[in-house]
Amino acid sequence: MKDKFGREIDYLRISITTRCNLNCIYCGKADCEKKEQELPTGTICDIVRDFSACGIKKVRITGGEPLVRADVCDIVRGIRAIPEIETIGLTTNGVLLEQYAQPLFDAGLDSVNVSLDSTDGSTYRHLTGADVLDKVLRGIKAAQTAGLSPIRLNAVLMKGVNDDGAKDLIALAKDSPIDVRFIELMPFSGVGEDNDRRVTGDEILRRFPFLRPLDTQENATARYYTADGFQGRIGLISPVSHQFCDQCRRVRLLSDGSVKPCLAFDDSFDLTAYENDPAARQARIREIIFQKPAGHNFGGDKTTHGLNRTGG
Ligand code: SAM
Repeated sequence: MKDKFGREIDYLRISITTRCNLNCIYCGKADCEKKEQELPTGTICDIVRDFSACGIKKVRITGGEPLVRADVCDIVRGIRAIPEIETIGLTTNGVLLEQYAQPLFDAGLDSVNVSLDSTDGSTYRHLTGADVLDKVLRGIKAAQTAGLSPIRLNAVLMKGVNDDGAKDLIALAKDSPIDVRFIELMPFSGVGEDNDRRVTGDEILRRFPFLRPLDTQENATARYYTADGFQGRIGLISPVSHQFCDQCRRVRLLSDGSVKPCLAFDDSFDLTAYENDPAARQARIREIIFQKPAGHNFGGDKTTHGLNRTGG
C-alpha cells in the first residue's frame, strides 16, 4: 500500500528479539528482554499475514540477534507459508550461522546479511566485545554452502577504529559472488553520535577510486559498485550523507508486537491489542503505514534507543 507521501510500503523488517550475543560499541547496550516478552512464533506469523494483506511482499528478520531464538527456523517456515510474501531475508552477526545456515535454507530463507565490521581479530573483538571472528567467517562459508543468496556482508566503519581495514573487507567481494556493503554510522541517542567517526560513502569512493558504479541500481538504499576482476559488488548505504527517505519502502515490527514506522523516531504502535481480530489489526496497520513520517531527522531529535531494539 502507499503511505501519505505516495511511497509504496512493501517491506517489513521484524526484530524478533532484543537479546543479542554481542555488544557492538555503536549499537546500544543489548537489552536483556526476557524471552516471555517476545512475540511467540504463531503471533509473529499471524501479524505478518495481516501485513501481507496490506501490501507487504518482502520480509527481513533481524534483532538483537535473531539466531539466539531457538525457534527462528519455525518463524521462517511460518512466514514462508504466507503466499503473498515473496522474499525472506535475515540479518545476523553470524556467530551462530554455521549451525543455522542449512536449517534456515531448508525452512525457506532466501538471503542473509552478515554484519562484519573487520577481518582483524583484535579490531573485531574491540568493536563487538567478543572473540568470535573465526565463527563468523565459518558461518559465511556455511551460508554459501547452504545455497543462501544473495549473501551480503555489512560493515559500519568508524574513523580510527576499523576504517583501515576497509580494503580487506572490499577484498572479500573479489573472489566470491558476495556483496560487501558499507553502512554509514547512524546517530541514535548515546551511540553513533560522534560525527567525526563517520566514514561517508563518498569518502570510501575517494579512498578506493578503482570502484566503478554499476549501470543498474536495484534500489535507493544502496549504491552498488564493481571493479576489474571482482565477482561480487561493493555497496554504499549512506542514510546520513545521502538521505533516501523519499524512496523508503519499509516499516518495522518490534519483538514486543509494536510497529515502528521509522527507525529514527521513538513512535511505535502496539498491535497486541488486536490479537484475535485480524480485520481490526489490518485496519490499524493501514493507518500506521499511511502516517509514516517523511524521513529521519538525524540532525535533530532522534530516537532514544539504538538499533539493537529496532533491528537495523
Ligand atoms: N544482530 C544482527 C546483526 O548484527 O546484524 C541484527 C541486528 S543489528 C542491530 C543490524 C544492523 O544494524 C547491523 O549491521 C549493525 O551493524 C547495524 N547498526 C547498529 N547500530 C548502528 C548504527 N549506530 N549505525 C549504523 N548501523 C548500525
